[in-house]
This record gives sequence, C-alpha cells and structure tokens, in this order.
Amino acid sequence: MLDDILDYVEHIREQPVWQPMPQDVRARFRGELPDAPSELSAVYREFLRDVLPYSNGNVHPGFLGWVHGGGNPVGILAEMLAAGLNANLGGRDHAPIEVERQIVHWMRELFGFPTTASGLFVTGTSMANLISVLVARDAALGFETRRTGLSAGKKLLTGYTSVAAHGSLRKAFDCAGLGSDALRLVQVNARQQMNLAALKRMIESDRRGGFTPFFVAGTAGTVDVGAIDDLDGLAAIAQDERLWMHVDGACGALGILAPEIAPRLAGIEAADSLAFDFHKWGQVPYDAGFVLVRDGELHRKTFASPAAYLDRETRGLAAGSSWPCDFGPDLSRGFRALKTWFTLKVHGLHALGESIARTCELARYLEKRVTECAELELLAPVQLNIVCFRFRCPDADRTNARIIVELQESGIAAPSTTRINGEVAIRAAITNHRTRRTDIDALLDATLALGREIAPAEQELEETVFHE
Ligand SMILES: *Cc1c(COP(=O)(O)O)cnc(C)c1O
Repeated sequence: MLDDILDYVEHIREQPVWQPMPQDVRARFRGELPDAPSELSAVYREFLRDVLPYSNGNVHPGFLGWVHGGGNPVGILAEMLAAGLNANLGGRDHAPIEVERQIVHWMRELFGFPTTASGLFVTGTSMANLISVLVARDAALGFETRRTGLSAGKKLLTGYTSVAAHGSLRKAFDCAGLGSDALRLVQVNARQQMNLAALKRMIESDRRGGFTPFFVAGTAGTVDVGAIDDLDGLAAIAQDERLWMHVDGACGALGILAPEIAPRLAGIEAADSLAFDFHKWGQVPYDAGFVLVRDGELHRKTFASPAAYLDRETRGLAAGSSWPCDFGPDLSRGFRALKTWFTLKVHGLHALGESIARTCELARYLEKRVTECAELELLAPVQLNIVCFRFRCPDADRTNARIIVELQESGIAAPSTTRINGEVAIRAAITNHRTRRTDIDALLDATLALGREIAPAEQELEETVFHE
C-alpha cells in the first residue's frame, strides 16, 4: 500500500486531474453493513478500483480549483506513523502534545506573537475563525456569558469584515449566536481590499445606533482574487476603536515564508487572533488548520471546563496542564501536528517559501498569457496566486460556466468558478507545489479550444430559441 500510494503521487501527471464517478462505482458505496470479515487485500482492491481513481484531484498539478494544497510525501509517511501511534491529543502528558506545542512555539515566532500566545491545531480555517470569534465574543461580554448565555448580556455586538471575506466568518457569527447580520460587510477598493474609511464610518454609525462594535477581521489572501487587506491600517483602527483584530490568513498567512510576500503582511503581528491552514500553501496533507491567539489566557478561559474525569495532576499521565482540550471544543483530537512537524523540518521554511513564491510567479505567467490573448479577458488584477479570467464571447457567463465544467470533465485541468463584478470567471488558484508552466499552458490551450467550440454552438442555440 505504501509503495502504491507513493507511486500514485510520483506518477500523478499520467492520470486525469479528475474524472466523474460512474454510476456503478457510486452504487457500490450503497452496500450492506459488513457483518462478516473480508480479506484486507480484497478491500484494498476495492479501494484501488473505486476510491483512488475518483478522488478530489488536488494532488495533481493541473488541479487549480478552489484553494487546495497538493500534499507531500513526507506528510504521507507522517500520517502512517501518527495512525500507528493512535495518539489522542486532547490532553495528558505525552510527547505528541509536545510536538504540537513545538509548532505553537514556531508559529508565535514566525508571526511575531508574544510567548503568552496560545495555538491549536483544528480542522481548518473555518474552525479557526469560529474559535477566534468565540474568544473575542467572551472577552467582550465577560466569561460568565459561557454560563448565562448570550440573552443575559445587554450588549448588541457587531463585527466587521470586507465583502470579499470568506463565508466561514459569517458562519462563525451565526454559530457564535451573534447572528450573521451582526457581521457587517465593508466595501472594498478596486483591488478587493477593505475600504478602511468605509469601515470607520460603519463603526461610527453602529455606535450611534446603540451597537457595541467588538471585532474586525482582515483577510490575508481573499478567496476570489488573493487580495491582502491593509493589516497595518486595520491594526491602527482596531486599536483606536478597541476592537478585537482577527486575521483570516487561510492561504495567505504562510506567504510570510516568501520574502516577496512577507512585507505585504505587515500588521499581521498585531492581530489578536490569526487563522490559517497548513493544508493549503503549507502542503501538509488534509486537514491541518491552525489558530493562534495573542492572549492565551483569554483563549483558555473561553474553553476550559472543569470535569472530575479530566482532573489534572503534577505527576503521572494526568500532568502537563494546560491541555489542548482547554483551548477548543474538541476533547479527542488526532495528531495533525506530526505531519506538520515532519513537513516543516524535512523541507525547511526556505523551500516552502520558494514553492509559495513559485505559485505566484505562475499566476503572473498566466496573467501575462491571458492579457496577450485577444480571445481572453482578465477579470481582476493578479495579486497573489489566483487568476480570474474568461473567454470573450456573447453570453459569456453561460459559455464560461460550461467551459469550466468541460475542462474539469476533460481531465486536463480543474479550475473552479467565481463571480467578479457579477461576471462568471474561470478561477485558477495555483496552490500546488507540483504545478508548472506546462500545466498553465494546458489550461489555456484547452480553454481556448473549448471556447472556440462552445461559443458558436451556444450562439446558434440562442438564435434558434429566439426565432421560435
Ligand atoms: C480556504 C479558506 C477558508 C476556509 O478554510 P478551511 O480550511 O477550508 O476551513 C477561509 N478563509 C479563506 C480566505 C480561505 O481561503
């Protein structure tokens, strides 16, 4: 199995990026509960036949959709070791927790956070955003809110982020009981960065309206176009207005490893909380989200819960408090730290930074090729690793949506879609360290071929419908 999966990764270019799952394969996942045992080798053959060929595709260098990391072989091996150890990182005194604490130390240092900052592995930035909102909320309302509930408080809290921010922040406000309406969406400038003057006006207006502004979230690498908010400017406003400053750095925060990107993240060190993913630009296999909180004590007070069966000791296995379960909702937790520890140590930060810079260079290459081609149109300036463009034609929304689906089903490339100023865009988020210029060329060649084929056909169809 180990040989096979390493071969799979090594020869991934010979496979389609993605292929739809045939109905008969899908039907095999509606089987009976397995009362009787099966041979391991038989189940493995099922995996090779029914799972492996129909996975997400993000190991492949032609996978350009959403913002997905490519993983790395070191991570595969670390996952094997972690599964063998079967460690539970909720708490207790053992080395796996020290590995996680090592990453916390490293991330404090990397992002310029104080030694009193806390950190925690989570599934992804969605959860890291939620944890950050919960700490900010309890810090604003007082920790008795954990017992009394939100309805006991008299304050109407409001938070702020830009219209270009990720939807998980709205979901976090919803899950935190504040309601997603309490997260105000601030307009952006032409580069999709938060308009800080508009932010100030919204805060003022909310204060006049009897609300209590408590939270602002900047984004380092917006999901649509990779914009980085002015974090320094945001930090100044957060300080003036006494707001909790959060940064959603899901993809972009690790840009700090690339010398050309790091200066644009200035201000990230002033954040009260920072959410990011090792599984995107960090190339650690899924999942490996992370949250860093400046004031570790506020973080602990948001989640620590006494329970007799979780009593702490100064010696023995129940020593080593505080435990990770004191910093988040999870008690049982896997060993996400190990694949991250191995990946950072084996490759080193320099190489990771270079792979991050390379994806941005590829984005600029794609941008250049798009602008040089009369049949294509660039929909947003390229700021990081994301390129939004489309094939020029009448009824461009429908045609480009079809081009994207056809591209995905062709197995040649897998971009995703978004809307830029209301227009459907082919969105290439170059996150995989395996992606090369030839993959970008393949995307463009296939886009042009499909566009030339689909656009006239759609046009004809349109005319037929119109005449009838
Ligand atoms: C991917 C992403 C998220 C969500 O992160 P998950 O790890 O998928 O939960 C949040 N914000 C931004 C900007 C993202 O790119």
